[in-house]
Amino acid sequence: MTTFKDLGEFGFIDRIARYGLARDDDVLCGIGDDCAVLRSDHGQVLLFTTDTMVEEVHFLSSASQPEDLGYKLLAVNVSDIAAMGGEPRHAVISVAIPPDLDVATMDRFYDGLYECAEQFGVSIAGGDTTRSPGPVALTLSLVGRMGSDRVCYRSGARPGDLIYVSGTLGDSAAGLELVLGRDVPLAAADREHFLRRHHRPEPRVALGRALAESGAVTAMIDLSDGVASDLRHICARSDVSAVIAGASLPLSPAYRAYCAAAEIDPLSLALTGGEDYELLFTVEADRADRLEALGGRDGLPPPTRIGRIEAGDPQVLLENAEGYLEQFDASGYDHFRPGRGGR
Ligand SMILES: [Mg+2]
Repeated sequence: MTTFKDLGEFGFIDRIARYGLARDDDVLCGIGDDCAVLRSDHGQVLLFTTDTMVEEVHFLSSASQPEDLGYKLLAVNVSDIAAMGGEPRHAVISVAIPPDLDVATMDRFYDGLYECAEQFGVSIAGGDTTRSPGPVALTLSLVGRMGSDRVCYRSGARPGDLIYVSGTLGDSAAGLELVLGRDVPLAAADREHFLRRHHRPEPRVALGRALAESGAVTAMIDLSDGVASDLRHICARSDVSAVIAGASLPLSPAYRAYCAAAEIDPLSLALTGGEDYELLFTVEADRADRLEALGGRDGLPPPTRIGRIEAGDPQVLLENAEGYLEQFDASGYDHFRPGRGGR
């Protein structure tokens, strides 16, 4: 018997992909990107994505506020729309709830959900409710839209392209460590910052749309599993290799202070810690000026150049301070093999 533990999350996805789910000509992109991309009318496409959060897997009831869970469930889906360069529009939500759960808990969950929906102009158009014999399970599916000629897939990176990331890395991972009970002496403001980054991710919709409109982006993904893992997805889909300059990673002063206090390697956690929900994208080198000019305009977070795309087998190499390249083998999260990493 082969179990899901043996197969791993990505092995399972490959196995499903064998069915050739995208048989319809209107499915422009099926499995393998942040959203499915569906042909629509008038030169538009629909972007379709879904995410599930399960109690004890994605969150601990004892350590999470219901408002934050509601906010985050929508925000992570919005982030997948942002990763294609699109505009989030309509969502449906399914909830599986144990019968003895306090009703007020779900009221608070929906308060957070609607706060996020209002912020990003998303309508909650319906859903489903059911009884759960155990943990709470929450699934949200979201549709977005954009012009078909502007979609930023994972598959367009070419040798010579430059690699950029928005915002800062690792803050959410530090927040998760605090949630899980890691005891690190911290200023109250820094603790609050990390927990907020973890519980209330800010999907980069405005930046994603501006990047798509710029026409300079060749590939894009949002950071859900960590740079090392998510950049590997771009490499695999684009059939290229990537080199990251360790010294160039954007790290907040609070994050550097956290790593020093916790005695952990800031590079390692920044590259493998998930849930930053920043955008990771590649740009043609001769269009980099146009891209960098976007930063700071209209309140958009400035992108930071962190590396380059090269020809070669799909892999992510880390260039250390001495200029040496090392294979970076620590990977992101694999749902069926927690702690063992994905591909
Ligand atoms: Mg994604």
